[in-house]
Parts: sequence; structure tokens; C-alpha cells
Amino acid sequence: EAKLQNSGYQLFNSDIIDTFNRKLDLENELRWAIARNQMFLHYQPQVNAESCRMEGMEALVRWNHPTLGQVPPGEFIPIAEESGIIMDIGKWVLKEVCVQLSRWLADSFDVPSIAVNLSARQFMAPDLVSSIRDIVRGTSCSPQQIVIEITESSSMNDIESVLPILHEFKSLGFQIAIDDFGKGYSALGYMKQFPIDILKIDKSFVQELISDSKSVVITKTIIDMAHGLNLKVIAEGVETTDQLDCLRKMACDIVQGYLIDPPMSPDRLESRYWIGV
Ligand code: C2E
Ligand code: CA
Ligand code: CA
Ligand code: CA
Repeated sequence: EAKLQNSGYQLFNSDIIDTFNRKLDLENELRWAIARNQMFLHYQPQVNAESCRMEGMEALVRWNHPTLGQVPPGEFIPIAEESGIIMDIGKWVLKEVCVQLSRWLADSFDVPSIAVNLSARQFMAPDLVSSIRDIVRGTSCSPQQIVIEITESSSMNDIESVLPILHEFKSLGFQIAIDDFGKGYSALGYMKQFPIDILKIDKSFVQELISDSKSVVITKTIIDMAHGLNLKVIAEGVETTDQLDCLRKMACDIVQGYLIDPPMSPDRLESRYWIGV
């Protein structure tokens, strides 16, 4: 920072300064985002690959800032992780999900489960499990209705400390999904230790299914392995009917992607999926 203030240094070109300032702006604004009601959730359906019936949905956070506009999660989540703001965002997301789920269940909209994303950084909080447990307890939802999505990289990094946390979640009744499977470390050996229920195949494989025969082999192998371990498989990023057909042939259980539906507001989701009374 000292270098930036000293005009004698020419180390920073304007692009770097712009990026730097944008990050600072986002981080400052991010601290207020929840209190100022700028955050909201979209939900993306996950449907049975054969019947297309809804089997669950994933909650995805959105940030609508009055002057910065819609900031994509791919941009602000890393900043939230670095700055620690993700701790508050994570709690807010889960609370919001439980409130929404309670509302839907009270209205007899039969939503099987909702998945929430957990960042690696959140695993560093010593009170992670108890805070999540308490948030759910404060609502009429049960842990069985919540799926915790963790990425391979966040979970495989520090297996000794993550494993007991996952077991605690399981014993409370939460479901656990491994997100972006195949993209990161792919430490297959851990698959037998992890108390997981669902494996989500990364969209990079799904998107190459039609063009790349190697992706077909890899995807088929992942699905067979998951089934052998009694896990359900969700394919992410399904955008075309060719991809869907291919996944059906491989006996993929659940699909999620723009072909089915994009992430959307609760109201829109209700009008598309709730065969109202
Ligand atoms: P993710 O968990 O892998 O979420 C799936 C992303 O794929 C979402 O992007 C979703 O909108 C997008 N997507 C869904 N269907 C398709 C498709 O057919 N094609 C393509 N190309 N993309 C599709 P989104 O909402 O922009 O989120 C990006 C990432 O931000 C998420 O990746 C997740 O890592 C993170 N994120 C989002 N919400 C949260 C949250 O509440 N907490 C945490 N910790 N991370 C979150
Ligand atoms: Ca996810
Ligand atoms: Ca994913
Ligand atoms: Ca409504």
C-alpha cells in the first residue's frame, strides 16, 4: 500500500490499480451488503434424469448493489473468503434457506431438500457445526432437508480436521455432497473415508461429453464408482438434450443446468414447480 501512495514508484500500471481499487470497493461494500438488504438467493432445481421430477435444489447467493450492479458470485465469493466476510454470508445464506424452506413446506410445496455451498474458509471456524446446527434448530426445518455442498479442494486439503467435522454433520442428519467432483484433487482414496451422500460431477466434464470421448469415459467411470459406493450422482451444467441423453444412458441419477432451469427467484420457482392447490 505504501508503494501506491508514493508517486516515485512506477511499479503499478493503471490496470493493476483499477483491479486493486475494484477489489477494495467490493470488499468495503460487501461488509454492508447483508445489513443493507442487497443479498438475495436464487434457487436452481435438481431433477431426476429420467422423470424430470424435482429432487432438490441448490441455493446460490446473489448480490445486487445500487451502483456496482449485479456482482457475480465468482467475483465476490473469493473476496468474501479472503476477508472473512464469508462467515457472515454463510450464516445468512443458511438462515435464509431455512426460512424459505419452512415457508414452502407450510404452504404444502413439497421441496425434498435444499443444498447450500460451504467455503473452505468456513471450515476454519471452530463453531462451524454448532452454529449451523443452531441456525437450523431456530427454524421448523430439519437437518435431513439440508444438503451441505463442499468442494473437493476445500475438503481434501486438510483431511484430518475436515473428516471429524463431516462426521458431526452426518450424525446431526445433514446430507453431504462433494461439489465440482473431478475438477480438483480427485483424491479417490478419500472417497471411502468421507461420509458423503451425493457426488456432483463438475460441469467441465458434462460440457465436453459430446465433443470429447475421453470425457464420456471419465464421466461413466465416476458414475459407476459413485453407484458402487451407494452415492447419488448429480451432473451439473447440463445445457443440451444431447448431454442429457448421454447422461441418461450412463444412468446418472440427477441433472442440474440451464437445459432444465437456470437459478431463479423463489416466486418464479413456485410458479414453475408448484402445482398449486
Ligand atoms: P457452484 O457451486 O459450482 O455453482 C454452480 C454454478 O454453475 C452457479 O454459478 C450456477 O449458476 C452455474 N450454472 C448452473 N447451471 C449451469 C449451466 O447449465 N451451465 C453453466 N455454464 N453454468 C451453470 P453462480 O451462481 O455464478 O455461482 C458460482 C460459484 O459461486 C458457485 O459455484 C459457488 O462456488 C459460489 N457460490 C454461489 N453461492 C454461494 C454461497 O451461498 N456460498 C458459497 N460459499 N459459495 C457460493
Ligand atoms: Ca455448488
Ligand atoms: Ca459445482
Ligand atoms: Ca410466494
